[in-house]
Order: sequence, then C-alpha cells, then structure tokens
Amino acid sequence: MTKRIVVAGGGSGGYAAAKRLTEEIRKRKLDAEVLVVNKDEFHYMPPLFFDVAFNYSGPEESRAPIVNMEKYGMKVIIDDIQQIDAANRTVIGKQEKYQYDYLIVSLGTDQAWNAYPGLDKDGVHNYSLEGALEMRKALSEVKDGYNIVLLVPEPIYRCGMYPYEAAPMLSLYTKQRGKKTKITLIDSIPAPAMPVPNGGLGPDISRFLSEMLEEHGVEYVPNSKLKEVDVQKKTILTNNGEFKYDILVKVPPPRLPKALENSEGFVFKQDPRWSPVLPRTMRNPQYDDVYMAGEHSLPPLGVGLAGVFVEVMAITAVGQIIADMTGFSVSQPISPVTCVGYAGDKGFLGTCEMPFDEEKGVYTPKCYLVGKYTIGRMLKQAFYSGWIDSLKF
Ligand SMILES: Cc1cc2nc3c(=O)[nH]c(=O)nc-3n(C[C@H](O)[C@H](O)[C@H](O)COP(=O)(O)OP(=O)(O)OC[C@H]3O[C@@H](n4cnc5c(N)ncnc54)[C@H](O)[C@@H]3O)c2cc1C
Repeated sequence: MTKRIVVAGGGSGGYAAAKRLTEEIRKRKLDAEVLVVNKDEFHYMPPLFFDVAFNYSGPEESRAPIVNMEKYGMKVIIDDIQQIDAANRTVIGKQEKYQYDYLIVSLGTDQAWNAYPGLDKDGVHNYSLEGALEMRKALSEVKDGYNIVLLVPEPIYRCGMYPYEAAPMLSLYTKQRGKKTKITLIDSIPAPAMPVPNGGLGPDISRFLSEMLEEHGVEYVPNSKLKEVDVQKKTILTNNGEFKYDILVKVPPPRLPKALENSEGFVFKQDPRWSPVLPRTMRNPQYDDVYMAGEHSLPPLGVGLAGVFVEVMAITAVGQIIADMTGFSVSQPISPVTCVGYAGDKGFLGTCEMPFDEEKGVYTPKCYLVGKYTIGRMLKQAFYSGWIDSLKF
C-alpha cells in the first residue's frame, strides 16, 4: 500500500524535508506520497524580511505561493493544525484529519509578545511580513536625534545573529539618509552571540560581532534583563537601568506552537518552550514514526534557533524515513554547517563543527569566523532570493 508521509508545516524545515523526500521517492521508485499541511497560503523566507523592513525590496520578493511546491511532486493542503494524535497516527486540522505512516513536524515557533509587560503594546519588528512593512514605515519617519533601541528580551530567539546584523544595518540606514541617530542594542546575554551555557557562536565570532557593533557606533548593553516596556514614557525598564526610545525594534520571545502544546508527547518536560527530539535520528522520543525538523526542537539538541540547523534536521529525518522504508541507510552529514550573516554593507561567513557530547546528550557547536567579504553579502542575498524565486512559478 502507498505510504503516506505528512509534513506538518511548509516553512524552511518542512519545505527542505518535503523536497528531499520527493526526490528520494522518485529516485528509488518507492510507493509513497508526501503531503504538506500549512496554515498559510504562502511559503516565506524570513531572512528576506530584512530587505522589506529596510526597503531594499518589496514584500512579494520574500514569499511565494506555497501551492507551487507541488511541481516537485508533493501535495499541498492549506489547513490550520490544531493537534497531533500520534497514538492514532493522525494530524488534526481545522478542516480535516490526516492519517500518516510517517510524520515530519516543522511548525517553527510562536511569537510570545505578551511574555513581558508592555512588549506587545509598542515597537516594531521584522519577524513577519506584516511586521517588516510596519518597521519599514517607522524607519521612513526617522528624525535627527532619534534614539533607536533594539531589544532582545531572552537569550534564545529566532536567528542567533539577528541583533548583530540588524543594529549595524539600522546605523547604516539612518546615516545614508543623513540622520543623526543613536542606536542602542539591549541584550540579555554577556557578549554578542554567546548564550550561556552552551557557548553560542563561540568567542571568535563573538569578538568579530563586538568589533562590528563598535565600528557602526552601536551602544551595546549586555546582561540586561527586561522588566517592562513603559509605553507612556517610551522607556524600557531593565535590571541594568532605563532606556528611552523613539523607535523600539523588538525581537519576539519564541514559544512552543499551540498545536504542539495541545499534543501528547510533544512538550519537552525540562522546558515547555520546546518539543523533544532524539539527537541522532531526529525522532520524537515517544513515537518512532514521528520526526522533528523545526526550530521548536533545536534547543533540546543544544543548538540555537536558525534555519541552517533546521535544514540539517530535515536532511537527517528524511534519511531515517528512507532507511526505514528501504532497509538501506542514506548518508547524513551533520557537520560542518556554514552560516552567512550581514556585516553592514558586507557579509561575514562562519562555519560550525557540530561534535556530539555523549555525556550531556547534546551537540556542542564549535563555530569559527571565516571572514568578512562584499561577496558574502551577495552570497546570502542570492541564496535566499534564489530559494523564493524557484517557487515563483
Ligand atoms: C529577519 C530574520 C532573519 C533570519 N536570518 C537567518 C539566517 O541568516 N540564517 C538562518 O539560518 N536563519 C535565519 N533566520 C531564522 C529562520 O528563518 C528560521 O530558523 C527558520 O525559518 C525556521 O524554520 P521552521 O521550519 O522551524 O519554521 P518556519 O520557517 O517558520 O516554518 C513554519 C511553518 O509552519 C506553518 N505553521 C505554523 N503553525 C501551523 C499550524 N498550526 N498549522 C499549519 N501550519 C502551521 C507556518 O505557516 C510556516 O510555514 C532568520 C529569521 C528572521 C525572522
């Protein structure tokens, strides 16, 4: 009988998994079908929300109709997943229920703007397309003497490099428009990209990011725990003092997607913000036909939230499913992972080895700076734009 593989969520992880699965199925002539269930009619590439917010490109360049994935051989259904009933191999959507033989879960993370008093009441962000358009409007109204404050309330957030890319870009943006502004980055950790206890992107990249912030005149305030955003006074209150802002750019605290919160076996007991996963196989610990390839399961692996790591999860999960169906293992290189970040008007390249610590049961990324190049920025741009362009028809 035809095996059905359901992919819950068609974002970065879901698309990477579904595309690879259909390729393997075709190549090996397997009797299997892939069904992607996504709540939104669009597939988004979130790094391109930078380009929208800074007015380098339009909103349509950051997304493509998700149904266009069908050209690769998968089926796409638009439905809002409410729950996973893994004991009965069923994904429960608002419209329908979906039976599966294998399931890949790639639901990203929810944005908990209400996690701190006042955080949901003011400020702009580019963590969604709507957010990026609002940020673009706020930046277009920037005036001389403005305080622009970039606030990172928690050590773990979507894309570890984000604030150190965004702050220099804010500085460049205002300078290019002839505005004298002050850019402040309020961070919850001791040094750029160095979340405790796992070391983050490591001392080499951290030092580089510190120098870059300095070069762009960004005031960096580490170790700051957010207490409240006082909307009336336009002030951020932290354990490290108070900071007045004219424009607040905020990073969302990530939380477990509601659909996983409602599902037996999908809440990580040690920290309910995440979903559990077995590190070698990307299997759900309770259900051996369920695989995790989304941001929600990166911290239990010892890894921060980033699309490059989600892609590695997707490759591993697909390898496991194909091995299970055929009896032949598929090679799955986990390491090294290459990251490319914006460095003002240039780009920087880093590489991460991913050794596994058997004792702790987590990966312990060791990241190094490769360098800062003009071509680095073009590489990043080309990769993400190419990803979306390939789904435009
Ligand atoms: C501004 C910005 C810059 C970034 N830059 C980088 C970078 O340079 N490098 C990098 O590695 N990462 C970067 N990231 C992070 C990267 O985009 C994410 O880590 C990655 O998209 C996570 O993949 P995912 O599949 O887990 O989640 P997503 O890509 O968010 O996909 C989740 C999918 O699930 C769907 N979904 C959610 N809930 C439901 C539901 N209930 N029912 C059905 N469907 C649902 C959503 O519609 C979405 O399509 C950046 C992020 C931002 C915002």
